[in-house]
Amino acid sequence: MLKSLYYIPYCCVCGEAVLPPLPEHLICRACLASLPFRMDRERLHWDKPWPSYASFFYREPIQSMMVSIKFAGRTDRAEAIGRWMARTVRRQNLSADAVIPVPLHQKRLRERGFNQTEIIAKALAERLRLPVVETLLSRILDTPRQSETQSVEERRRHLKDAFTVDTKDSAFKALLGRPVLLLDDVLTTGSTLTAAASALNNAGIQVICLAAASGHGRYIGYNEALAKWHL
Ligand SMILES: [Zn+2]
Repeated sequence: MLKSLYYIPYCCVCGEAVLPPLPEHLICRACLASLPFRMDRERLHWDKPWPSYASFFYREPIQSMMVSIKFAGRTDRAEAIGRWMARTVRRQNLSADAVIPVPLHQKRLRERGFNQTEIIAKALAERLRLPVVETLLSRILDTPRQSETQSVEERRRHLKDAFTVDTKDSAFKALLGRPVLLLDDVLTTGSTLTAAASALNNAGIQVICLAAASGHGRYIGYNEALAKWHL
């Protein structure tokens, strides 16, 4: 039996019905206002040879959303985040030929069943009409989960040879010398993204790093931003 004639979208953050008009049907108005957009702090300033960006501060509700994507399979939230990240790419005038998600090691992929960054990448790439290339970059070494006993330096050493680029892959020739968007979910120390970016860079591919969320820089809230822009 037909239950409803209309498709009512539900907010992927709070579960309430999303009422129009909205720029994004996956997130309701209230949740949209609560998202920690980095706004004019999307460009990250750090000592890397490639430009790096992040769309959100790593704060609530993005933090909980990320956890639920990884451990409760909330891929709808990954999709919503990916769509919003496309706005960062447009706002920052970034141009790239492909989107490459930071891969998980096979073992980790089997454990989890999916790569959350890949789902974010697909939603982002669809909006930008770019291909997602997953075969070129692989993670050959599994690094232990970040723990308090492991220093940034130790982690960097572990990660140094963790990624490899398959120069025999059909996408390699097309992307050689071309810019790609290298995508990660959360940028904390930046060591994973740096290791993956180095592998691509060393193989002759131009890298633009883009993370969904990062804690880098001071958080600027909605009210603060409004005051700054309108006064
Ligand atoms: Zn909501």
